[in-house]
Amino acid sequence: MRISEMHGRGRPVFSFEFFPPKNDEQVEPLLKTIADLKSALQPHFVSVTNGAGGSTRARTLQTVTRVQRELGLTAMAHLTCVGVTQDDICQEIGTLVGEGIENILALRGDPPKGAGGFEPTEGGFAHASELITYLEDNYQVDIGAACYPEGHVESASAELDLAHTRLKVEAGALFLVTQLFFDNRDYFAFVERARNARIRVPIIPGIMPITNVAQVERFTRLCGAKIPAELGERLRSAGDDPAAVMAVGIEHAVLQCRALLEGGAPGLHFYTLNRSFATRSVLAAVRRV
Ligand SMILES: Cc1cc2nc3c(=O)[nH]c(=O)nc-3n(C[C@H](O)[C@H](O)[C@H](O)COP(=O)(O)OP(=O)(O)OC[C@H]3O[C@@H](n4cnc5c(N)ncnc54)[C@H](O)[C@@H]3O)c2cc1C
Repeated sequence: MRISEMHGRGRPVFSFEFFPPKNDEQVEPLLKTIADLKSALQPHFVSVTNGAGGSTRARTLQTVTRVQRELGLTAMAHLTCVGVTQDDICQEIGTLVGEGIENILALRGDPPKGAGGFEPTEGGFAHASELITYLEDNYQVDIGAACYPEGHVESASAELDLAHTRLKVEAGALFLVTQLFFDNRDYFAFVERARNARIRVPIIPGIMPITNVAQVERFTRLCGAKIPAELGERLRSAGDDPAAVMAVGIEHAVLQCRALLEGGAPGLHFYTLNRSFATRSVLAAVRRV
């Protein structure tokens, strides 16, 4: 099913994001995790990332097609411009479409570790909006794109970043998924600025329940999101106790998700980090209300 058809039905759209397995041994456990989440929570769709630096392209394709075919879940493939030409992308899309994938999250992508900045490949695309234009012109798929409530790390200003987000929507993106954030004020302020800039598509909040302090500090450093002072304080108080950290992370995410839905967010996209417990706890609590 197309993701654009899931929106506008008066009910929030819930989705889970996974990264592809790093080796053959991780393939079946990951499919089992996704199958368990499916039976427990019935997400509307799942998405599979494309490793930083384009390092997992083949595994992304295999995972996304197996999830849709074998688990019967609508699956969205993340497609990046890193290290590939238009011809490479044409081949990948051909495989995805041939396997019945109808939803693509079109991204520029992050450069490989240690590469410094993003360098477009000759014969490839420099910005996500170029990839979106190419997909829109050549394929019958639903296209989503990324957006950044706190601004993209490389962007000179929030205004410029918003203008680039609008380019993606004008090129054909039918929905936007946000970078992770922990303060809902950033999301609502971004949505307001987007609406004022005539961006009308659904803006789906990306939620990452915190389960590990070092990990979330690394992620936020990389993507430029901030951890609100009060949340940071509570995480510090939890100290080295993983269960206490998880409890703080889940509680924050539950409150965050409830307030987002009450404030009119069209759904929730969970960054699961391939683990089910935290996402399961948060979404179950949110749905109970
Ligand atoms: C929901 C979500 C999922 C993600 N999944 C993945 C994944 O699977 N794999 C992965 O590698 N990364 C992923 N990322 C990270 C993303 O690839 C990085 O944030 C990347 O740095 C930017 O990608 P983009 O698609 O937003 O790029 P773009 O929209 O191209 O923007 C990148 C930068 O260029 C600027 N820009 C855009 N257009 C122009 C223009 N025409 N002229 C000048 N500057 C411009 C923007 O303001 C921004 O600063 C994801 C991010 C999100 C939010």
